[in-house]
Amino acid sequence: MSFQALALPEPLLRVLTEQGYQSPTPVQLQTIPLILAGKDVLAGAQTGTGKTAAFTLPLLQQLLNAPKVLTAGQVRVLVLTPTRELAQQVHDSVLTYSRYLSIKTAVFYGGVSIRPQYDAAEQGLDILVATPGRLIDHLHQQTVDLSQLEVLVLDEADRMLDMGFVVDIKRIMAKLPAQRQTLLFSATYSKEIKQLADELLNSPIQVEVAIANATADRVSQNVYLVDRHRKRELISHLIGARNWQQVLIFVRTKHGADRLAKQLQKDGLSTAAIHGDKAQGARQRALDDFKQAKVRILVATDIAARGLDISELPYVVNYDLPQVAEDYVHRIGRTGRAGLSGEAVTLVGPEELWALQDIEKLIQQVLPTQIMPGYEHNPHFKAPTEPQAHKPGQRNSGRHDGPAKRQAPGKLKAKLRAKALGKS
Ligand code: AMP
Repeated sequence: MSFQALALPEPLLRVLTEQGYQSPTPVQLQTIPLILAGKDVLAGAQTGTGKTAAFTLPLLQQLLNAPKVLTAGQVRVLVLTPTRELAQQVHDSVLTYSRYLSIKTAVFYGGVSIRPQYDAAEQGLDILVATPGRLIDHLHQQTVDLSQLEVLVLDEADRMLDMGFVVDIKRIMAKLPAQRQTLLFSATYSKEIKQLADELLNSPIQVEVAIANATADRVSQNVYLVDRHRKRELISHLIGARNWQQVLIFVRTKHGADRLAKQLQKDGLSTAAIHGDKAQGARQRALDDFKQAKVRILVATDIAARGLDISELPYVVNYDLPQVAEDYVHRIGRTGRAGLSGEAVTLVGPEELWALQDIEKLIQQVLPTQIMPGYEHNPHFKAPTEPQAHKPGQRNSGRHDGPAKRQAPGKLKAKLRAKALGKS
């Protein structure tokens, strides 16, 4: 099946050829005809499946077929994304795919001056890509007018809910015309996503490209059991001994990201860190350096890394297990993208086995664990007290510590032993 068979117009086909895309991905095959037919679509597709082109290409075709003179503030297509990085990345794709069209587009997110955004909105916009918070600022200022919106796209809707944007989304919805096309993309399906879809979509057609909550099967998943205090040593060893280049490492907290980046740097590995406390410019610079292989390792928190498009990324490391099991799917979705294979390495400390079980339940797969020789569990080790060390009843440097209490320490040890012996 080719893009020609999807009846995309020549200016779009030309870009796709230039981009080296040979054939549509499954989500593109299924979604493009539905969007062109004006249907509401609920698509289960994670990053890396080609979902951005799946909604951008047909929407560009619709705009090309029905050009309009825009009034000040008018928006025809709105794409909402959870993070600035994803907004920027989606807008970059919009710019690429619309290279041979004359349409007005913009990307609005917070953390940067709002002034240039006012100027862009003043012209009217065929496509606006925005994060919810900054869009609401514009709605308050009445610089953006959504009353004539034709299409709404919610990209990574599950993450928007995880990040607590539900109220913002509903506020934005109140400004939209009832008569519109709505497309909702989500990597995972929860009760909340279904509820949101029921409220926002009109007789949607459901498209499922990967099984909900399934991990990309091109990604090999390796889990190492290792004591927490030896994780840094082990990861440096793996990166060095196996000569990994371009490694994205996930940690839970901002502080943890900075600390690990510093330590790896000391180990002689060029490393940058991105997290929510870093200014937008610094995040973008770190990402660009990583993409251009100026730094070998990027340490990121889940929120900062959401939606990052780093093509051909070979290695993803879960240094800390994610707070929410779904994030595991998102994290390892960074590798094995667009038909390439990848490796996800997860380091699990004894106190994190509960989180590993949650992940296994979610992906309906047992992840075989291994122990690197020389990194066996040391039950006698006592962590030195440092500012971030866990104290009973306190949060551990922002780490989610509640569910860790689900298993008594004795049971945990037994489980760890069983795992180590391959009996899990
Ligand atoms: P996305 O899932 O939208 O983040 O896209 C993941 C990556 O796949 C991006 O780098 C796209 O440029 C690339 N891509 C999208 N569609 C295709 C296609 N049909 N063939 C090859 N690569 C594609």
